[in-house]
Amino acid sequence: MSRIARLLLIVFLVMPLPKLVAQEAQEAKVLPLPDERYKTDILLVVAHPDDEGAATPYLARALDEHKRVAVVFGTQGSSGANEAGAEQAGALGAIREIEGRNALATLGITNVWFLAGKDTASQNVLRSLANWDHGFSLEQLVRLVRLTRPEVILTFLPGTFIGEDHGDHQASGVLATEAFDLAGDPASFPEQLAGPTKRLEPLLENLRPWQPKKIYYFPDADREDIFRGKGPEYSVKEISKSSKQPYWRMALDSFRAHQTQAKSFLDKIAQMDEAQIEKMATSDGGWSDAQKFVLGKSLVGGSVTGDIFDGVTPGAISLARPDVSPEPARPELSVELGGPYSFYAEFRRAHGLTNLPHPEPSEIALQGHTVMVIPLWVRNRTGKMQEISLTASLPAGWTLQSGTGKFPVAAKQWAATRIEVLLPAVPETETKKTEPQEITVRADSKGQSISEIKLRVELRKRALPQ
Ligand SMILES: [Zn+2]
Repeated sequence: MSRIARLLLIVFLVMPLPKLVAQEAQEAKVLPLPDERYKTDILLVVAHPDDEGAATPYLARALDEHKRVAVVFGTQGSSGANEAGAEQAGALGAIREIEGRNALATLGITNVWFLAGKDTASQNVLRSLANWDHGFSLEQLVRLVRLTRPEVILTFLPGTFIGEDHGDHQASGVLATEAFDLAGDPASFPEQLAGPTKRLEPLLENLRPWQPKKIYYFPDADREDIFRGKGPEYSVKEISKSSKQPYWRMALDSFRAHQTQAKSFLDKIAQMDEAQIEKMATSDGGWSDAQKFVLGKSLVGGSVTGDIFDGVTPGAISLARPDVSPEPARPELSVELGGPYSFYAEFRRAHGLTNLPHPEPSEIALQGHTVMVIPLWVRNRTGKMQEISLTASLPAGWTLQSGTGKFPVAAKQWAATRIEVLLPAVPETETKKTEPQEITVRADSKGQSISEIKLRVELRKRALPQ
């Protein structure tokens, strides 16, 4: 070896390690992970402050079992009467947001968010979705599902029924179902998932996709028969291990926060003895004796009527895109119910919910002396203009206002139309609940029947607008 080569070798051997390697070893640090304070087991998605009452006896039980619970409200609940003060509209919403937070804080739930939806006094879910700015609300809810990473989502059953059937309640169930299917999809709202591109990134959110494992519904319907055996039931009379109170009592104590909505009711129960309060809280006017859920979907097995957490084990699962069932075969010329009725048929198909209970025929409860609208879709898939004729059979005393007769439908067209019916008044003195009555709409073309649509309608003294 030459002297120079020997010198170079010595220099190499005594040289310190390259600076780059040394720096990496010193500065290695764990990349930040999702914030565990917001991880939940149950995410409740409802419309208005006080709607959480539809699930509070079960939530109290789940908290006893050390489940983590978070809640999303669709609106602040700014409409309706104020029983506690003069404030109305936006000011009332600001109060009701606090009442909702306080009600949940009573149970120990503090991770509570409000979407930017607005109250919509109607039974039509499509009006509520429009008034909630559907796309924006869905984006907000998908963000909250990714932030809270729920194992299970609980929400109102999306469907139309004889009951209160509030459009906003239905909208919360629609959004929750959509978010269940989208939150785990990296192609949906990808800006929420992208990592930061600079320090203090102001736009990209660095969330991760999250696929919830199960979704359960509670119906906003009067009838219970079609939901029986479709999900688990939990007694509201059982005694909580933590508070030594029955779950209905914990739910009622939580409900006391809703002074602007229920002051007169709360004043009334202040005059009752314990036995009377229990009777009221565990009757059908309260929480009944058991809280009933309907299984929407489970991606982790478990039986239909088994515990809500049956089959749920810790850790993420992969995205499950819903099984979309095929479009039903339709004749070349058809007439069918439109509006929320046809939407829900499409919705159940698109979200793999074809087993979700829904009434056949379709039904609704409406206030007497109002105009009922029967929305219809007319489809002509033939290559020629077709004439259809619409007729309606109504119960005695109901008056057809418009929408029947002959209508030409252009070739390859899909058109909306509606029949309007003036409903008879229900006397204020009426004490009996009236039985639903049936309307039949018939569509004919060239003397041949093409469709027959039935709708059951219950008349009430008071009901939300259609
Ligand atoms: Zn409500």
